[in-house]
Amino acid sequence: MPACATVGVWQRSRSSLTATQKRSASPSSQGGCFFWLNIAALVPVALFGAAMLALSAWYLSIGAPLALPFLDRRLLPPGFDLPALIALLVLLVLPLHELCHGLAFRLLGVGRVRYGIKLSRLVLYAAPAGEAYFRRDAFIAATLAPLAAITLLGAAGLLLSPPGLHLFWALAVALNAGGAVGDMAAVALVRRYPPSTLVRDFGTAFAVYRIEQA
Ligand SMILES: [Zn+2]
Repeated sequence: MPACATVGVWQRSRSSLTATQKRSASPSSQGGCFFWLNIAALVPVALFGAAMLALSAWYLSIGAPLALPFLDRRLLPPGFDLPALIALLVLLVLPLHELCHGLAFRLLGVGRVRYGIKLSRLVLYAAPAGEAYFRRDAFIAATLAPLAAITLLGAAGLLLSPPGLHLFWALAVALNAGGAVGDMAAVALVRRYPPSTLVRDFGTAFAVYRIEQA
């Protein structure tokens, strides 16, 4: 699931729970929500970025005991400025984010994962290649997997790096958190449904289904 992918079915899926059909929502898109989601992304960017900088400040105050000296700023190309660093991180972090979703899908038993890019929104996505339905909590786990994994990876990277690379890790975690704002919105939405709810991820949208009572 890409950032911002999920809001498209916000209203459809909300109404779907009241329907008795097994299948009552289909992927759709609503541009307005997408716009506001991008604005909302600034909040996790600021919070996760600030948390990483706080971790850096604390770690340096205790003398950075785990920092590996061979990891230093020279690993980055010479003359690397902040815009170039952010561009590099976007190129690295966004595919890694989708890869984490894909890995989580595989761990949940999905045979084949489809990766793609939705050009109209310039977002990457990962989704089960076939028809796969997840229980609510499994869907939440797959949706939050990149936020958890890349935040932990970034924190570990920071702890192993000398100060010159701390900004790299802080920006990587912050960018990933911003990219996960759609994931967080999806989780906030599906948490309103009972655990027995089934969710299907279409990559750029998702649908919520209730199980028909026989
Ligand atoms: Zn995501």
